Amino acid sequence: MSSYTQSIQTLMNQLASLPGIGMRSAERITFHLLKQNPAEAMKLADAIRDVKTRIKHCSVCYNLTEQDPCLICADPSRDQSVVCIVEQPKDLLALDAAGLFRGVYHVLLGRIAPLEESHPGDLTIDALMKRLAGGTIREVIMGTNPTVDGDGTALYIQNLIAAQCPQVQVT
Ligand code: ZN
Repeated sequence: MSSYTQSIQTLMNQLASLPGIGMRSAERITFHLLKQNPAEAMKLADAIRDVKTRIKHCSVCYNLTEQDPCLICADPSRDQSVVCIVEQPKDLLALDAAGLFRGVYHVLLGRIAPLEESHPGDLTIDALMKRLAGGTIREVIMGTNPTVDGDGTALYIQNLIAAQCPQVQVT
């Protein structure tokens, strides 16, 4: 089948397992790295190691962060009584880049999608309910994506809040 050495084949397979990279691109990237000097090529390995060791989820909002709590949760100029619920850290980034929202966030790390075997227990909903039970949050804004699953997730959380934390307003 292939006459590449084991280490070359392993790198190619790893690259090809990434989203959007087929075997052909994996091959091109591999030979590009082989041509580079070691210091240059190792920058990629270092960058991967850095994100995997330094980046974690904020213990309050589950945003990706290098410090805990994250910069948003720790920002005293933000309104801690208003929480915008989003599906993924990238949704938080997109919303926050607009600069219009001055409250804080809660990242679900997914959405309820029965067909994809993604259930409420897989998300950070328990942590959200604990946050709301804490009493400092008065308003929740649903920032889930406008898809069938996103709307379903919003409805599920809305019902949960109405049942468990009726003092919190949902918009
Ligand atoms: Zn946070």
